[in-house]
Amino acid sequence: MSDLVYLNGEWLAPEQAKVSVFDRGFLFADGIYEVMPIYQGRPFLATQHLARLHRSLAAIAIPDQPDEFWQSLVAELIERNGLQNGLIYFQVTRGAETKRSHLPQGPITPTIFASISPLELHWDIPKPAKAVLCEDIRWLRCDIKSISLLGNIVLKQYAQQHHAIEPMLHRDGVVTEGASSNYFAVKDGVLYTAPTNHLILPGITRMWVLQLAHQLKLTVREEPFHISELAQLDELFLTSSSREVQPIGQIDDIIIGNGRCGPLTQQLIEAFHASKRAHLA
Ligand code: PMP
Repeated sequence: MSDLVYLNGEWLAPEQAKVSVFDRGFLFADGIYEVMPIYQGRPFLATQHLARLHRSLAAIAIPDQPDEFWQSLVAELIERNGLQNGLIYFQVTRGAETKRSHLPQGPITPTIFASISPLELHWDIPKPAKAVLCEDIRWLRCDIKSISLLGNIVLKQYAQQHHAIEPMLHRDGVVTEGASSNYFAVKDGVLYTAPTNHLILPGITRMWVLQLAHQLKLTVREEPFHISELAQLDELFLTSSSREVQPIGQIDDIIIGNGRCGPLTQQLIEAFHASKRAHLA
């Protein structure tokens, strides 16, 4: 729990931060969010996270702020909360007006909220985890980091009931992503991941892992894989800002490879750790 949060120009204790019941975030989930990791007081991949924040706001025509505004908010969140390792959360909604109407009645000021929560910096190779297959029931603009997350929540509940850390989502058998992560598969030494389009959120960790894979001279194909190929995969992992690179050893009853963390996954985890170390140097 952070000590101080930012809301519309004020720094407040979390329980003091309140928005109107007419806020369009509350009434319509009319807003977007962004999550940015902080390692030892320094934002990691900040430029990429801010670029995605700008893209999300532009996609739904909510007025934005310049980079300097977001950068100073990041610096102040870290300083005021004295947190060295954390996850920054930004949320912007279209704002509030005292009439519920699908279309705003006039120009309104966006609601801007920001907080930071603790994050543990880890350097280990995570144990392979289980995921479960689910039909992707979400809308068709998954590229926008919308606060409308009902589909993601229902899918995560299903995964939890089946003792899995994440659902693996597919549309007609073609794997899209997780409910809060992107998937990568390895087959015959080639790394596959779904291409960026309206069906997935362009994960910043996904993009960073692709960059590391290119530096390691791995063969990479931004092509989706099919659920019928799962049993033949050599390795599988997911990526996200909070989990970084997480090996997946099992999908439903299918064991991936031998159920252990595969060599390419391990190589990428080590490269990821090295990039974090370089960021901190
Ligand atoms: N896909 C979805 C649907 C997500 O919610 C997230 C995490 N916000 C990701 C992928 C991973 O994105 P990132 O690597 O930027 O955390």
